[in-house]
Amino acid sequence: MKTYHDWEKKAAELSIQNQAFINGKYVNSLSGKTFVNINPATAQKINDVTECGKEDVDVAVKVARDTFESGVWSNMHPALRGKHLMRLGDLILQHKDELALLETMDMGKPISDAMAVDIPACARTLHWYGEAADKLMDEIAPTDPSALALVTREALGVIGIVVPWNFPLMMACWKLGPSLAVGNSVVVKPAEQSPLSILRLAELASEAGIPDGVLNVLPGFGETAGQALGLHMDVDMIAFTGSTEVGKYFMQYSGKSNLKRVSLECGGKSPHVVMKDCPDLDKAASAAIGGIFFNQGEVCTAGSRLLIDRAIKDEFMEKLMKAADNYKVGDPLDPDTTMGSLVEEQHMNRVLGFIDKANEEGATLKVGGCRSAGRDGFFVDPTIFDDVMPDMTIAKEEIFGPVLSVLTFDGEQEAITLANDTIYGLAAGVWSKDISQAHRMARAIRAGTVWVNCWDPTGDMTVPFGGFKQSGFGRDKSIHALEKYTDLKTTWVQL
Ligand code: NAD
Repeated sequence: MKTYHDWEKKAAELSIQNQAFINGKYVNSLSGKTFVNINPATAQKINDVTECGKEDVDVAVKVARDTFESGVWSNMHPALRGKHLMRLGDLILQHKDELALLETMDMGKPISDAMAVDIPACARTLHWYGEAADKLMDEIAPTDPSALALVTREALGVIGIVVPWNFPLMMACWKLGPSLAVGNSVVVKPAEQSPLSILRLAELASEAGIPDGVLNVLPGFGETAGQALGLHMDVDMIAFTGSTEVGKYFMQYSGKSNLKRVSLECGGKSPHVVMKDCPDLDKAASAAIGGIFFNQGEVCTAGSRLLIDRAIKDEFMEKLMKAADNYKVGDPLDPDTTMGSLVEEQHMNRVLGFIDKANEEGATLKVGGCRSAGRDGFFVDPTIFDDVMPDMTIAKEEIFGPVLSVLTFDGEQEAITLANDTIYGLAAGVWSKDISQAHRMARAIRAGTVWVNCWDPTGDMTVPFGGFKQSGFGRDKSIHALEKYTDLKTTWVQL
C-alpha cells in the first residue's frame, strides 16, 4: 500500500507527455501553439501542452483514413486485433500507478479512486473488447432458396472520439475498445482539462503492437479541434461524451458536413428514489451519498436528485447526514482522501453559483455550501440541500459537482412523476422491498439504466450504458457498443 509520501514522490518524478500523437509519433501542433495545463488541486501549472487546430485535424484524419484503407488493421485477422487490444489492457495494468497519477494530477480525483476504479475499468474494457473481436458472427438471410444473401457488419472507417474530463481515460477506452475491435482507425480529442493520460495511452498502444496511424490523439480546444473533427468531410462517425449543449453542436456539424453518424453520451439529472418500504435505510443512505459525492459529483450518472417518501423522511435524513461524513475533501494524492478538487476554477465557480441560487430560491442548506477553506486548489465541500422544490434551479440543471438536492414525495405515482420531471434520462435508482413495485417503477422511469436496491455497484462491462431523452443516444459498453462502430452490408448472390 503506497503512502501519501510515496505518491508525492512518484508525482514529482513523473515524465509527462505534452505533444500530439499522430501516425505513431509525438509531434507539435503545426501552429506551434501550446496551452497551459493546470493541476486543479494545487492551482499550479503541470506543463504546456501542444494545441491542435483544424490543420492538425486534417493531417490526423488523413493518416487515419490512409491507415484504414491500407488494411493493416482493418483487414487484420480479428483474433490478432483482439490480441493487440488485450495486450494494451495488460500494459494499462502494468502502468497503473503512472496512469492513475496522470488522472489525479490532471483533473483532481482522489488517487485511491483512480487506482481502484478508473484504471482497472480501462484495462477491463480493452480486455473485454479484445476478447470479443473474433466472437461476432454475421448472418445469412432467410430468402428464397434461389439466392444467398449475406448480411455482414463492416467497420465504418475513421472515428472521431471526443471525450470529457471527468473520467478522461475511461471515457476514451469505452469508445476505443469497440471501435478498434472491429477495425476502425480513430482520432481522439481529449478534453483540454485532461489530455495527459490518453497521450500516454497512445504510446502504450504502439507498444502493444497496434499499427501506427490507427490511434491518433490531438489535444486542443472544443471550439477549434473538436469542431474541426465534427465538421470534417472524411470522418465517418463522431463518438461523443460530454454536455448536452455540445452534443447538439455535433448533430449540427454532422448536418453541415457529410452526415457522419453521431453517438452522444450527454448529461443527466438522475433521480434516486427511496420508497417507504426501502429494504435497508442505512445501505440506501450510503448509496445515495456515494451516488452524488463519488468523483466530486462530476459524474454523468450522479444521483443528484434524491427523492424520499415523506413517511420515512426524518429517519432517512438522519442516516443520510451520517453517511455524508464519509466524504471529506483532501489532497487527491493522499490515499485516505475521499473527495478531491473540482476540475478547474471556472467549473468551481459555476458549482458555487448553483449553491448561491439554491440559497436564494429558498432551499435549506444542511451541510457544506462553500469553497473548502485553507486550500489553494478548486475544492468545494460536500453539499446537501433539503426542501428542494421541483421548479428550483438545482432540481432542474446538471450541476456536475458535489451538490445533492433532496425532494419529498407521497407514494409511487408522485415518485414516478418527479423522477421523470427532467429533460434528461441517463440513470435512476429505486429502493423498494416490493419487487412488483420496483419493476413497475423501473419500467415507468425514462432512463437508460435503472438500479434497484443499489446505485451503480460495479460499473459492469457486460451491460449497455447510455441515455434516453436529452441524455443522448447510442450505447457504450456491452456487446451492443460494437454495433454502432459498424454498418450492415447486404451481399445478394443469385444462385
Ligand atoms: P463538454 O461538453 O464541455 O466537453 C466535452 C468535450 O467536447 C471536450 O473534449 C470539449 O473540448 C469538446 N467541446 C466543447 N465544446 C465544443 C464545441 N463547440 N465543438 C466541439 N467540441 C467541443 O463537457 P465537459 O465539461 O468536458 O464534461 C461534462 C459533461 O459531460 C457533463 O454534462 C456530463 O454529464 C457529461 N458526461 C456524460 C457522460 C455520459 O456517458 N453520458 C459521461 C461523462 C460526462
